[in-house]
Amino acid sequence: MTTISIERSTNTKKKPPQDQLGFGIHYTDHMFVMDYSTEKGWHEPRIIPYQPIVLDPAAKVFHYGQTIFEGLKAYKTADGRIQLFRPRDNFRRMNRSNDRMSVPEIDIDLAIDALEQLVAVDHDWIPDLEGTSLYIRPFVIATEPLLGVSPSEHYKFMIIMSPVGAYYPEGINPVKIHVESNYVRAVVGGVGEAKTAGNYAAALKSQQEAKEHGYTQVLWLDGKQHKYIEEVGSMNVFFKIGGTVYTPALNGSILAGITRNSVIQLLKHWGVPVEERVLSIDELYEAGRNGTLEEAFGTGTAAVISPIGEMNWNGEKLIIGEGKTGQLSKSVYDTLTGIQTGAVEDPFGWTQQVEVK
Ligand SMILES: *Cc1c(COP(=O)(O)O)cnc(C)c1O
Repeated sequence: MTTISIERSTNTKKKPPQDQLGFGIHYTDHMFVMDYSTEKGWHEPRIIPYQPIVLDPAAKVFHYGQTIFEGLKAYKTADGRIQLFRPRDNFRRMNRSNDRMSVPEIDIDLAIDALEQLVAVDHDWIPDLEGTSLYIRPFVIATEPLLGVSPSEHYKFMIIMSPVGAYYPEGINPVKIHVESNYVRAVVGGVGEAKTAGNYAAALKSQQEAKEHGYTQVLWLDGKQHKYIEEVGSMNVFFKIGGTVYTPALNGSILAGITRNSVIQLLKHWGVPVEERVLSIDELYEAGRNGTLEEAFGTGTAAVISPIGEMNWNGEKLIIGEGKTGQLSKSVYDTLTGIQTGAVEDPFGWTQQVEVK
């Protein structure tokens, strides 16, 4: 196995109070970096002190957006162990994103080794207050200084980590969602199923407009007909209708969330009927009107579960579950966060221990 060099930081930063962490504000003392060139392939994997990077202004990432990212978390259990949640799935998805964006594949075992060593080096940055975790951001950027539109011949793969606060410090609360009928996030054949920067920049304007009207998130419809439900913000979405849980089938423009997959597996394990299929906004509103729409929630690494209490589609409001968090949404949230933090047994083999030597 490739050796990862470690250069330890000599001036460690002061840690922020655990009840004031926020999201992605503070960074740990170290980072992982590895370089790529067409001659050498991926080389020089190293853990170094957290620091700025110097790039040529012509670096391709700035001009043509050849970049991808991942997001996962490390948790501290009540008895002090460290757990990662499904890291291999994140790196598999990273390589699918890489492939779509013409970025060279990264060895998954090396990436996991790097991540485990980085987490071990910065283990005292993992917060242990209820609801907190260490958010991990692996990413790749194209660094070749060349303005021709072609795949870069140089890249950097990095992992940075940020202690993050409880997503629901006052308890889990439903959000209001604006159903977007003008802008689209992604189209089939495009890059919607890759975790690549442009998808998020493209979503900001819609998000901003929704916020101005008092909505927390946007529900995205398909890019062609504005008819079929895709995702909510940067989360996958689930609806409980007449006892069955539905989520849009992965169609090429929807991001294949690992939380989404975990929720599907968990519901099946519980014997709750769950279906991945095409779901139109008309059908959803019809279920809302006839009283069969029971619960709705988004899923993603950051919030895990985000219940939806109200939707607005072209001015027509839909209140879901009296605007309260549904029972199933709450059970899924409690069980998933329980497995992640080691409070609930993990029958799925999702958690992976990190040893600090
Ligand atoms: C990351 C992401 C998700 C959620 O994926 P998880 O693996 O569950 O965190 C869903 N939709 C989009 C667009 C995303 O970027």
